[in-house]
Amino acid sequence: MAERLIHILPEHVASQIAAGEVVERPASALKELVENSLDAGARTISAEIERGGSALIAVADDGCGMVREDAVLSLRRHATSKIRDAADLAAIHTFGFRGEALASIASVSRLVLQTRRANDETGVELIVTGGDLEQTRGCAMAPGTRIEVRELFFNTPARLKFLKTSATEQAAAAEALQRLALANPQVAFRLNADGRTLFDLPRAVSVLERVRQLFGPKLADRMLGFELEDAGMRAWGLLTMSQESFPTPRQVFTFVNRRAVRDRALMRAVALGYETLIPRGRYPAVALFLELRPEDVDVNVHPMKSEVRFRRSGAAFELVYHAVRARLADQNATAGSLPASRASEMTPATREMMRPPVYLGSGVSVLATESGGSASGEAAGAPAPRPRGIGDQPERSLRLVADTQAQRAQQGALRLGFGRGGAIGAAAPEASPPPAAIGASIPLYSSLRIVGQIFAGYIALESDNGLILVDQHAAHERVTFERLRAELRSGGIRVQALLTPATLDVNPARAAQVMASIPQLRAMGFDVEPFGDTTLILKGAPAVFGADGGLRLLTEMIDSMGEHGFQMRGEAAFDDWLKQLACHGSVRVGRALSPPEITALLAELDRTEFKSNCPHGRPVHIQFARGQLERMFRR
Ligand code: ADP
Ligand code: MG
Repeated sequence: MAERLIHILPEHVASQIAAGEVVERPASALKELVENSLDAGARTISAEIERGGSALIAVADDGCGMVREDAVLSLRRHATSKIRDAADLAAIHTFGFRGEALASIASVSRLVLQTRRANDETGVELIVTGGDLEQTRGCAMAPGTRIEVRELFFNTPARLKFLKTSATEQAAAAEALQRLALANPQVAFRLNADGRTLFDLPRAVSVLERVRQLFGPKLADRMLGFELEDAGMRAWGLLTMSQESFPTPRQVFTFVNRRAVRDRALMRAVALGYETLIPRGRYPAVALFLELRPEDVDVNVHPMKSEVRFRRSGAAFELVYHAVRARLADQNATAGSLPASRASEMTPATREMMRPPVYLGSGVSVLATESGGSASGEAAGAPAPRPRGIGDQPERSLRLVADTQAQRAQQGALRLGFGRGGAIGAAAPEASPPPAAIGASIPLYSSLRIVGQIFAGYIALESDNGLILVDQHAAHERVTFERLRAELRSGGIRVQALLTPATLDVNPARAAQVMASIPQLRAMGFDVEPFGDTTLILKGAPAVFGADGGLRLLTEMIDSMGEHGFQMRGEAAFDDWLKQLACHGSVRVGRALSPPEITALLAELDRTEFKSNCPHGRPVHIQFARGQLERMFRR
């Protein structure tokens, strides 16, 4: 038959392809299958997994399909329709190009491939076991392709052993699909896991709409559109306003020519854009799209194509940094409310980019590139705005506290508020007297004169023989940690009921994992129950943090939950856990404290054991001896 598109790459081309494992876990197999569907011009992609993908991964699309001969060939190594010769490797326009994914997946699973082109009467079905083609027969189906992968790694027990729990593998698979869905809003995606729908995303007109579908309106409404073009490169996307921040970089998505990549330089450029605007150790939520000519980026450096190499990495870094920084300089309008920002998300170049991939008769689908290529460069590039100097920002504050006596009088009734920055304060101190004996090196903090707060993170105190700086986060963390530990010893963390129970929507990708950790959350003092598949209902929270802090703290804890969920084995592990709880529940560096809050914190600190260091071992205070200062002034 004519119309065959797939060929085996000649040895000299195949040998130039980055070698290594393509499929390490179900999530990577799912990603490869979905990328193939996207390359085939699919407009609707449905995926299904069972037991985290280890029992089943199935992907069905409405893309171009294959003729019988191509279907057979597609399972061979280095069989591809997407490149022909070594020169093509220099400018990749498709997600795939290696011709290895189907071969790798088929060799370690029981695979069924069904495919039909729109012009053909019927489809063809191939049954493959451990890489051996066992049967080829006709089948009735709608145009498109469906690939079913059962029992991944059934014949490679060593690799099977490396798989994590189903809930963890499921989360990884769902997150992989989320990244693909984010970068391809014009395509409808569905994901079912063990018969439940994790997400069902209709085609969207913009990345913003896709963010809304994936992460909910709460996040989408706090995002700003940004765009900057320079020297033939364009950085655009969505980012959260600087009032928002999150405990992990999990919601920083970086794409290069629509391919999800992990790139440290890009991550650093984003982080630098937010520097001094969000607290250290916190992260924004960002969808960054960097578009550049395919020949300016090498995607052939990693077997799973999750890393790239830039021809001009410095320029890419600068562009992203300036794009983020410039947008954060004026945050008055959100992505949803400002027509111009919609426009900024949809310039002519973007609109080109937003078009579904153009399926060329050659079997290669091409992402539209920047208009004509010649329009890019100096003429089209907006001049990069100058970065703001650090001194331009009013982020460094020095607060003077006038009358410490008066504040000390109020301290009994104090509770540090739960500020915008996600800080929770210590509960009202109970009326226990400060310990009589204080170690020689540790002062009675509340007896010292409060000079003020500096850099919104340190409390400056004057003692008879020097200047003391207290790290507010470290101090609060220790206070909270000791309180929790004391409560735990005396029978369990005290739970305070919320006046009105609150609900919390969990990212569907991670819902199974979160639900599995409910017993641990309960042991930590969160009176929490499932409320449907992807929602939790919170009825009470650790009393130490106060009722209004509970929901925010729970959100933080869940956001920061690692690949393995919360682990709790033995006393030491429990301590680790309390450390986390104390850390997330404590005031951060970056939050201005009111004079009464400072007074309350110092009084609490005086009543606390092990107050010299935070639970992670960092010092709570440092001291500059008077003599030391005087010597510096050459007195
Ligand atoms: P690559 O994507 O690198 O070319 P793969 O092993 O993933 O290699 O796929 C081999 C070939 O099979 C592809 O080049 C493509 O022609 C064909 N193919 C794979 N999946 C699909 C699909 N869902 N629809 C149409 N063609 C497909
Ligand atoms: Mg592929």
